Formats: sequence, C-alpha cells, structure tokens
Amino acid sequence: MVGKTKLSFTGISTFCRTPHISEIDKVQADVAVLGIPYDEAVGYRPGTRFGPRSIREYSMRFPYFDENGGQKGYWNIEKRQWFLKKTTMVDCGDVDVVPLAMSYVHQQIEESIKSLLRRGALPVSLGGDHSVTYPVFKAFERIGPLSLVQFDAHLDRRDTVGGVKYGHGSPIKRISELDFIEKIVTIGLRGLRAPEEDYLAAEARGEILIPAQTVREIGTDEVLNQIPSLGKCYVTIDIDALDPALAPGTGTPEADGFTLHQLKEMLSGLAARNKIVGFDLVEVNPYLDPSGRTSLFAAQLIVEFLGAIFG
Ligand code: MN
Ligand code: MN
Repeated sequence: MVGKTKLSFTGISTFCRTPHISEIDKVQADVAVLGIPYDEAVGYRPGTRFGPRSIREYSMRFPYFDENGGQKGYWNIEKRQWFLKKTTMVDCGDVDVVPLAMSYVHQQIEESIKSLLRRGALPVSLGGDHSVTYPVFKAFERIGPLSLVQFDAHLDRRDTVGGVKYGHGSPIKRISELDFIEKIVTIGLRGLRAPEEDYLAAEARGEILIPAQTVREIGTDEVLNQIPSLGKCYVTIDIDALDPALAPGTGTPEADGFTLHQLKEMLSGLAARNKIVGFDLVEVNPYLDPSGRTSLFAAQLIVEFLGAIFG
C-alpha cells in the first residue's frame, strides 16, 4: 500500500498530519489550522508568504492527529505525561490570497475565522506577516470582550507608515482601537528601533509592556504573576520573540530574545491562568533559514501550546 509506513518526509504535508478539510463550514474538530500566506505588509525583508507551507512541512515531525491509525497525542519526556490524546484537529488549508488586493484578503481572513468560530473550533492561524493578526482578531468580535497577549520583540503600534494603516508594524495599534478589546499585554520587547511615542501612548492607554530583559531578570513565572487576570484571551506569537540564534528565519530579527524554554513556559502559564480562544504564529520566513529550524520550532511551539490549552 502506498505510504503505509508514515515517516516525517513522506506523504502530503498538512499540519501535524491532520485531515485536510477544504470546506470550512463542515469543520468538526476542537482545533482548526488556517494558513495565511500573505506578506505584502512587510517593510523590510519579504518571504513570510512561504511560512505556512514550511511550518506544515516541519510539523510532519509531530504527526499526532492522524485519523488513520497513527499515534494520538504525544508523551512529554520532561513532564512524563501524555498530551492531546483526545484532541481533534483539522487543517483547512490557506486563505485565498490575491496580490495587491489587501481589503479582499482581510475579508477572506475575517470570514474564514468567523466560520471556524461558528463551528466551535479553536482557530490557529499560520502567518504570513504580522499584519494578518488584525483581521483575525476582528473576527472574534462576537465572543468579546477579549484580551490580547502579544509575544514580540517589537511594539507593532505604528499608527501609519507612509499613510498606510495596515502594515505589519501596526496591527496592535489597530486592535487597540476596537470596541471589544479588553487588556493588551506585550512580552519580549527589545532592540534599538522602538518608537518612544508609541511606547508612551500604549502605556497611557493602560497596556502592559514587558521587555525581554524583565523576563530574564525575574523569570517567566513572576512575569505571569504580575499580569492581572485576562479572562478570555487571544495570543499572537511573532516568531521574532525568540532569539534569532534559535529562529533566524524572520525578516526583522533582534538579538537577546527568548529561549524556546522561556517562550513555552509563558505560553503554558497563560493557558493555565486564562481562557485561550485562539492564537496565531506569524513572521516565519523560511527563505532566511536554510536550516529549517525556525519552522521546526514554530511547529513545536504550536503543538506544545495546544498541549497546554487542551491538556
Ligand atoms: Mn516583531
Ligand atoms: Mn510583530
């Protein structure tokens, strides 16, 4: 039989070898993965449009949602515990992307996420550049009020760049303007390019801004203890929160980022303290990482975050 022995390098790539469902209105699963291969909002080095495909390819190392006789869930050797044994997941493929048609793409993203929420699935979006988080988050209006936690080296709170409001440097500012936004927390800030006025304006709005250095100084647990309860919470993970030595495949790397362990600890701590209603992982650019480890660690972060959310 073709493909009977399922190895990481064989078969057609879906996220973690989940079944592919092309009709979103028929999704029946706890989790639905959606690719958003869009990178026209990038201000520096493009290529994240290839992120979803690359993350899917490397996620085949974690084939824990195979409906056809494969292993269900995974055993964590560090915790000596099983995760995701009963969690079901599907891969919905990619949102329709048309070059130079940003409002069409935003509409496709919003409608796709709304459909997944109607189906009761937890949406996991694979970017794409960080601009996609705004239309994704907007789709959650019906289940608001909602808090946002952003892991990122950057503020992403530019009001406009050259008069444009929807670049990948602006999604958090756009989200801060929505009616149903509750609290906003950003963890991982660093680098020499942060605009002071954006920082001060965010602080004045009551947003919680945590530099990467604070996490190094007081540890992940204490950082989470200092954040008030967030209730329902959406999480956006910019892969540049990780140190570029670990995750070089990203357009705007900043030195002195998180270890995989630190980011995993904070994600699982957030899941233990709040109700996570969806998340995305953005800014993976496989063309800047021939080793593939950025995509591999991105896939692993998603699997372990789901493990923390669903147990
Ligand atoms: Mn960033
Ligand atoms: Mn970002």
